[in-house]
Amino acid sequence: MTEPRVVKPKAFEVVVTEVIQETPDSATLVFGTEEPVEYRAGQFLTIDPHQFKALASHTAYLEDLKGKKELVRAYSVCSAPGEPLAITIKEEPYVRKHSLHAPLLSPFLTYGIHPGMRMKVVGLTGPYTLPPDLAQRAQHVLHVVAGSGVVPNFSMLKDALKHHPAVRHTVVDSNKTWQDIIFGEALAKLQASFPDRLKLVHFLTRQPDVSALPGDVRPGRISREALLSLVPDVAATIAYVCGPAITSYERRAALQKGVSAEPRFLETTIGHLQALGFPNERIKRESFG
Ligand SMILES: Cc1cc2nc3c(=O)[nH]c(=O)nc-3n(C[C@H](O)[C@H](O)[C@H](O)COP(=O)(O)OP(=O)(O)OC[C@H]3O[C@@H](n4cnc5c(N)ncnc54)[C@H](O)[C@@H]3O)c2cc1C
Repeated sequence: MTEPRVVKPKAFEVVVTEVIQETPDSATLVFGTEEPVEYRAGQFLTIDPHQFKALASHTAYLEDLKGKKELVRAYSVCSAPGEPLAITIKEEPYVRKHSLHAPLLSPFLTYGIHPGMRMKVVGLTGPYTLPPDLAQRAQHVLHVVAGSGVVPNFSMLKDALKHHPAVRHTVVDSNKTWQDIIFGEALAKLQASFPDRLKLVHFLTRQPDVSALPGDVRPGRISREALLSLVPDVAATIAYVCGPAITSYERRAALQKGVSAEPRFLETTIGHLQALGFPNERIKRESFG
């Protein structure tokens, strides 16, 4: 396969054709576009909050508080090329202890969008994609994701299962509870369709009892030992890690206090993979922080 040409992100309008509630606090928006959109699985588009009248006061208030313009937010595609363009948003909650300000765009995109609504987006872009010559580089892709981090990996997984028949996948997905798993049913269906090529393992950190849940569901956080047992073939594997990471705000706050920022999912997972012998260039990462 040849290297796809680099397409400059461009602004275009989409119309929401479907809103799918994935979990209590996440939703998929399926878009119709005037022209087909070229992109690679795993890429993202951006959405400017200023375009939404419903958010105008909130946006202006935050800009006054922060003393700067609110930036666009990035959302990965959950669709694979060839499917209708779609993104999945998980509401970022306001947690008094951790949040300096109430989150702006994600609550609106999760709960306030209806079919027929139009919005402007810019994209698609981003290097968190599979190489076109994946099968020459690896026999196995390890996806380690948490929460909405599953979104770009779901896109890549669908694409790779279709276009790279020689490559196996292991998806290790961390969530709080069973009901928080985004694309849970779709992932289980993919596993049933590709039993020899897809292994699916869920880790649940706050599920009281995992024993009655279907499939490979384990309690607690993703451990180094678990990853070791799931990846006996490190040299043949590329890892794609996506989920919460230390935010720039947390890094700055820690710096001011003269301490290091507390590692989050992304930093912890990368540490595990490095300890297992993954070289840096075989750990692809996307930070949602
Ligand atoms: C490449 C990429 C892909 C992504 N893909 C997805 C995806 O597929 N799905 C998804 O749900 N999300 C995704 N995200 C995250 C998404 O872009 C947003 O960050 C998320 O939706 C939160 O946006 P928000 O406007 O709701 O919250 P924000 O208003 O951005 O607030 C988020 C948090 O930051 C804090 N904060 C904001 N501004 C400041 C400040 N000035 N000082 C201190 N703290 C501050 C807030 O208190 C809050 O806790 C992605 C991010 C990236 C970078």
